[in-house]
Amino acid sequence: MRKLLCITAHPDDEAGAFGGTLLLYGERGVETSVICITAGTAARNRGGAGSNEELAALRRAEFAASCKLLNVAYGEVLDYPDAGLDRVDLYQAAGKLVLRIRRLRPQVILTFGPDGGLTGHIDHAMAGFFATAAFEWAGRPDRFPQQLQQGLPPHRVQKLYYHTADFFLPDRQPISPPTVTARIEIGKERFEKKVQAFQQHATQAPLFERVRKNLGHRLGTVEMYHLAAVSSPRDGRLEADLFEDVTED
Ligand SMILES: [Zn+2]
Repeated sequence: MRKLLCITAHPDDEAGAFGGTLLLYGERGVETSVICITAGTAARNRGGAGSNEELAALRRAEFAASCKLLNVAYGEVLDYPDAGLDRVDLYQAAGKLVLRIRRLRPQVILTFGPDGGLTGHIDHAMAGFFATAAFEWAGRPDRFPQQLQQGLPPHRVQKLYYHTADFFLPDRQPISPPTVTARIEIGKERFEKKVQAFQQHATQAPLFERVRKNLGHRLGTVEMYHLAAVSSPRDGRLEADLFEDVTED
């Protein structure tokens, strides 16, 4: 079975950054999963939540509703501190992702690059660093060997992609994005469904208009990626399918 794992930082990233791709590959029979590293409790928009715990509960429920609309087979929100991922222990965070990679056994992983994606958010960048370490380490028997003793064999993921784009958003910190090596055409219907999935995040309603404008006017119906690493070495080339060259085991 073909499997895709998406590793994000905040509830709503799965829709805003990766939504069209998740929908497209789900329709193609690929089993899709999303691991979100924080519950997004540092958000300025709090949807009436009185405490971080209340906001976390709301955002976890919104994440589940968004994943349902995006036909995601398995979604999980970890409990790392929102707006604090640059001070989290890399070995521990990567280990949690390695565990999930060895359980889910995807051939392809999507995450953010070191630039932090279009918004340049530090948490996005850190999610990408953790995911990159986990991509490399999940396949090595000398990393987290205690997981192997628990009956989880190493798993080599075949392709690692970073979310990227060929434009900048205005009024943001400067970023140096990864080059575009894959353009995924998601079509108008999937674009509308992705916006709908984003709107499941009701606590973030004040952002809806700006996000739709950013996504629609600039990104349109294309989601762009950078192929950052592969399990079989090869030259770079422009792709239109993230599962190109993927073999099923
Ligand atoms: Zn985010």
